[in-house]
Amino acid sequence: MRLVFIGPPGIGKGTYASILSKKYGIPHISTGDIFREEIAKGTELGKKVKEYVEKGLLVPDEIVIEVVKQRLSQPDCQKGFILDGFPRTLRQAEALDQMTKIDAAILFEAPVEVIIERVSGRLVCPKCGAIYHVKWRPPKKPGICDVCGSKLVRRKDDEPDVVRRRYEIYLQTFTPIIDYYRKKGLLIEINAAREAEEVIADLEQKLRERGILR
Ligand SMILES: [Zn+2]
Repeated sequence: MRLVFIGPPGIGKGTYASILSKKYGIPHISTGDIFREEIAKGTELGKKVKEYVEKGLLVPDEIVIEVVKQRLSQPDCQKGFILDGFPRTLRQAEALDQMTKIDAAILFEAPVEVIIERVSGRLVCPKCGAIYHVKWRPPKKPGICDVCGSKLVRRKDDEPDVVRRRYEIYLQTFTPIIDYYRKKGLLIEINAAREAEEVIADLEQKLRERGILR
């Protein structure tokens, strides 16, 4: 099961990936996570990546491609993998085709209003990092962390204006990638404007229909 996950920020891609990853024993590979780890460890790669990130620039294709190539050569990728955050340019998509054969590209979709409703209710504790949601996981006392009693805040990335802008950027960035996989007949579209369990069940069914999952 070699999958590429595509979807706007806040759609829950990371959650779906980690559920499938645990269930089927295949690694969830997020280039963002790899970069954060390398930066934290202070490796050569981490230093290079940090320079771009600090300037607010995208990490260049050649670096991202090399990182993914190395990661996919690890033994845990033999049964399959879920790529999250890669490819994000056509050059990366073509490079990926040189490395391995992708079974499907999964496109998670939901109207921007649904995403805004989801993420704008999210509250985080600035002290201990606990995450709440006004509607789905409210703290016992409104606005106060259950764990440590700190005042909860909304992350800047979760503000409706920011979500809307990131959604626009996502569309601009990923439309060519989506078209690329659609032309190859590899695109599977999933309605993600519903509960995570339903999203996963639908995805599994579509993977079975295509003989990717048995
Ligand atoms: Zn707390």
